[in-house]
Amino acid sequence: MAEEKGCERLGTIMVVSGPSGAGKSTICKKLREMVPELRFSVSCTTRNPRPGEEHGVDYYFLTREEFETRIARNEFIEYARVFDNYYGTLYSEVADRVNAGEDVFLDIDVQGAMQIKQRAAEDELLRKCAEFVFIAPPSYEELEKRLRGRGTETEDVVIKRLGQAASEMANWPKYDYLIINECSDAGARRMYEIMQAFHCSCKRIRKLEF
Ligand code: 5GP
Repeated sequence: MAEEKGCERLGTIMVVSGPSGAGKSTICKKLREMVPELRFSVSCTTRNPRPGEEHGVDYYFLTREEFETRIARNEFIEYARVFDNYYGTLYSEVADRVNAGEDVFLDIDVQGAMQIKQRAAEDELLRKCAEFVFIAPPSYEELEKRLRGRGTETEDVVIKRLGQAASEMANWPKYDYLIINECSDAGARRMYEIMQAFHCSCKRIRKLEF
């Protein structure tokens, strides 16, 4: 994907966060259609699957014990507790792919993204490959409308997620790129354009024939 004649590059680790309801999953869905070869990292979680979600496709659904065993074995690039559940990204979902020049898309929360940023200080692959993108909803009112419109969460969960969203929004300055997601078509197109810029980055070039 990141290949050009005479130029060998590492892939990009696209670390994408934003409050629940900002439209990340719709952007991801559209990106899958636009770039079928793009790899989406499958995270581990201890939350229950929602209707239609599949193990190994949407998430690896683990028990708390299974998750904690993987923490102890150091298998996660990052993990965090979000809404009373564990979520985490496995090193195995990312490292081989970016080394082979493929891009990998990580839809993770702010705590996880910041762990990757910190880890990048000692980890060369993360330092070269990770790029941080924040997706924001156009307004609080719109966010509330989207969260309620989903109809998949209980009122308690919606209220919790709205509170969380307000505090998550404060983190956008820690990211390198911001997409204000008014409409998912435009948001996905913007994400695609940012990806094209990632492919021109000098820091991921391994070899250039000249
Ligand atoms: P959901 O339960 O709606 O699928 O995801 C809830 C939140 O968890 C989202 O903000 C999502 O970005 C985040 N999330 C999903 N996978 C991971 C992961 O591997 N690590 C972290 N830190 N957050 C994740």
